[in-house]
Amino acid sequence: MTPQTTLDPITGSLVDERFLADIPRRRERPAWVLNESLALVGAWEPLFHRRRLGTTHVDDETFYAYEHSEQFVKEILAIGANLLVTAYDKNYYVDEEEFVLKQQLAGHCRKHGLRLGVYIRADNIYSEVFVERLKTDDLLARQADGRVPRYGSQEWRKNVCFHKPGNIEAFKKSIRRAIAELGVDMLHLDGFGVGGTESHGACRCDACRQDFTVFLQRRWGGDPKSCKRRFGHTCLEGIEPPGHLILPAIPTGRVTDPVWQEWVSFRCTWMARVARIISEYVYELNPDVAILGNSGLGVRENCALLEGYDAATYCQYVDMMGNEDAFQAHMGPEGQVIQRARQHKLVEPTGAFLWNYMQHGPSERNLRRQLSHAAAFNRGRTACMGFSFACYDDFRTNGGVKRKFADWQKQNWAHFQQLGPVTDVAVWRESRAMAFAEPITYATAMRLEQLLIEDRVPFHIAQGEWPADTRVLALPNLAFLDDARCARLAQFVEQGGSLLVIGQTSSLDGWGRRRSDFGLRAILPPEVRMAGLAFDQHIAGANDPIKPGRETVGDKDHWPCRQVGKGRVIYIPELVDPATQPSLFNADHTYNFGLDLTNWRVPEKADEVRKALAWLLDEGPSMRVKSERGVLANYYRQSGTGRFYCHLVNLLEKAVPEIVFDMDVPAGSQVASVRVISPDGVDAERHRWEVAGTHLLVELARLDIYSVIIIQTT
Ligand SMILES: [Zn+2]
Repeated sequence: MTPQTTLDPITGSLVDERFLADIPRRRERPAWVLNESLALVGAWEPLFHRRRLGTTHVDDETFYAYEHSEQFVKEILAIGANLLVTAYDKNYYVDEEEFVLKQQLAGHCRKHGLRLGVYIRADNIYSEVFVERLKTDDLLARQADGRVPRYGSQEWRKNVCFHKPGNIEAFKKSIRRAIAELGVDMLHLDGFGVGGTESHGACRCDACRQDFTVFLQRRWGGDPKSCKRRFGHTCLEGIEPPGHLILPAIPTGRVTDPVWQEWVSFRCTWMARVARIISEYVYELNPDVAILGNSGLGVRENCALLEGYDAATYCQYVDMMGNEDAFQAHMGPEGQVIQRARQHKLVEPTGAFLWNYMQHGPSERNLRRQLSHAAAFNRGRTACMGFSFACYDDFRTNGGVKRKFADWQKQNWAHFQQLGPVTDVAVWRESRAMAFAEPITYATAMRLEQLLIEDRVPFHIAQGEWPADTRVLALPNLAFLDDARCARLAQFVEQGGSLLVIGQTSSLDGWGRRRSDFGLRAILPPEVRMAGLAFDQHIAGANDPIKPGRETVGDKDHWPCRQVGKGRVIYIPELVDPATQPSLFNADHTYNFGLDLTNWRVPEKADEVRKALAWLLDEGPSMRVKSERGVLANYYRQSGTGRFYCHLVNLLEKAVPEIVFDMDVPAGSQVASVRVISPDGVDAERHRWEVAGTHLLVELARLDIYSVIIIQTT
């Protein structure tokens, strides 16, 4: 039987670019974002909102006046920050008395050279102050049951739907005012998403439904034959958005239902469309205005399914991506190595930077660790420097430590510019395959990445293209791979690349239809066989559809390998036992976004994975660091200078002695010099180095928290 081809341009990518084609893409990142540090202080809750929330102070007016004073601006500059994000528009409401203060603040910022951003949150409307408008304008989102979703317990903040044109117009109007009347440098667009969070009141309003029908008709209406193969029939106008009554309201396993797949793609496409509309509008008004977009980056969560965005696309339209997770760099309660290496690596390929909440706390060492981790993984952008005290953690706490770090960065700023990754291993979180993947795929990627992080292997997370220097590609149970992607992978191997293939990778085509044999058959070891399916029909009742078959994996301990031309392939039947995974849902069937550390650990068979990687990498990684567990390394090459970097960050509570770094000097290059710089003082810079043949060895006497090894090659 010949496999049926699905080399379909329509289903080739998660975001259907044809729905964006009417908005020319002209915007480039503002030069200042690329050239300056991004060290940001936040004061972004408007006074009216603090009061409405019931979280304000007796002296709130005095405190709020301070947040708009010259003293405030000077104090921010004094800790080494260069950017303030002030409150402005919360859910379309701007308090005019507060706005007068903003104008004064903008003057102080200009006078003292502090960049100013404003906070805009546009995915809800402050319904209490828009009674009349809501009587006449159709703006609100609707859940499948017709109710209006709200922002958690703040029930007066009702969700709006960007499929309704009035919301985009109001959003633009607010942006225009900030740029024209305040002359801002940055827009912090919080909650910058479309359609809400699935299982937490995602939109199913009439406007969404109509646009979804148009989406389906444009993609499938012109080709009845493909349409019938896709949906079983051609009645597109009868297809409703999925997720009505059944709980949980989203697929809990693989997304194989074609309507769910189309819905995810529709959501990601509309998010991209709205992001492009807004970013192009900002560019038109002032090309130097930067955008911080927050739609909540996730590494364990399927953001395409839950939030309706594709990170690789989204980050093209924002200069900083917001992240609100709680995985700040530290050793966890059970010795877990907690960090945000993945989050940074997901954003980095687009050229955007990451903004995190950082809980600095009172500990000086913790503060230095957070700043160091951000500098090492975010190409020098420390991002979160604290908040006005009447909002959250006071930015002035340990201000001297922050200033010292910022000054050190300023001195060494040339080393944080034009940095690109060093990629021995790329974990392929292919956008579309991940969007339709079951939770175990995320667990598999997480565990494998954790090993690469803990072992300090130069690695990268690719969502579309992988970097040109990739030596090993890891495919973390990517069941959905169309023929085109399989062909690209086969070509990669034929040209000398190596593959770590895990689990059900390529067992389905791009639509999720089960193949008769793996899409990667031509390069897999011959003894690898497709898993059988086991069905549990006995649990099917009249209202309980038969569940999809479970794959029965045979010998999980045998990992076949194969040389293919110049490339190598290893197949791992199963990396993570599904039985180890917790439920992803709360008791009320909503998705559980709570802190979960299950997969912040290396795979059970870590040593076997290490052996497999060693074989795939032939002579091992191109850069290595020998030190204690809990020391992280991130490697860069600098464009045009011949410099390589090894950033070392110590998560442990004490300094570690004797760190050994070694690298293979790239063919045709020579090491001219080695330097070590550190914000922790000269003691953390002491080192010796030598080159033997093509091998560079650097011995660092002591790592306190952060040291950077700079290798100049010629
Ligand atoms: Zn809607």
